[in-house]
Amino acid sequence: MPSSRVQICRWHIWRNIAKKVEKSSLPKNQQSEFMDDVKNMTFSKTEDDLRAVIDNMSLKYPADCMSYLKDQWLDSLDGVMKKCWLEQHIKHNTNFGFSTTSPVEASHHSLKAGILCASATLHASALRLLEHDLWSQQLKDISKSRENFRLPLSIHRKIELTNLITRVSVGALRIIEKEISKMADGYDLETPCKCTAKPRFLLPCRHDIIPGRPILLAPLTLAGV
Ligand SMILES: [Zn+2]
Repeated sequence: MPSSRVQICRWHIWRNIAKKVEKSSLPKNQQSEFMDDVKNMTFSKTEDDLRAVIDNMSLKYPADCMSYLKDQWLDSLDGVMKKCWLEQHIKHNTNFGFSTTSPVEASHHSLKAGILCASATLHASALRLLEHDLWSQQLKDISKSRENFRLPLSIHRKIELTNLITRVSVGALRIIEKEISKMADGYDLETPCKCTAKPRFLLPCRHDIIPGRPILLAPLTLAGV
């Protein structure tokens, strides 16, 4: 949806919608189902998918329950809720383990500062991003971040993390450190990997790390940043 104009954190959208739904006539036991549908709507990849979810929701739920969603996020935006960027960014690009809202908001802030306008289309903003090479700027910001000076000794001691120190966030280092610690337990190669580090953060899990060999930064950055 290159005409998307919403550049807001989906977490905040969901939170605001959930607050309104709590006060609506929808019975409590259906509220989590409603929020599941809202989340599905956020994940829509095309406008057709988006409209199908919304149509289905309009049939399922009372009007007062849908009104905030419609007034705030659908009708006010040319009749179509434009999907949020952040979800797609987090899902498909390396996020260096950022999982709390504050780093996301900080990243969001620098993104907006870089594109100079909070309501430009996705297409126009992407052009500005490329122009200013914001992705490499963000990497530099991470490496300059003061948090890197307070790294625990356990991280410094892990040979596997050598290449990543000061290059990725401390949050990511901690996640990978945990994966390295789990390697000591051993694992069965036949059992499929169910580690959360990979799908959630796009970081290497214990099945990807070779003991004693520094993890390369390149595969992480190639994933998108
Ligand atoms: Zn794994």
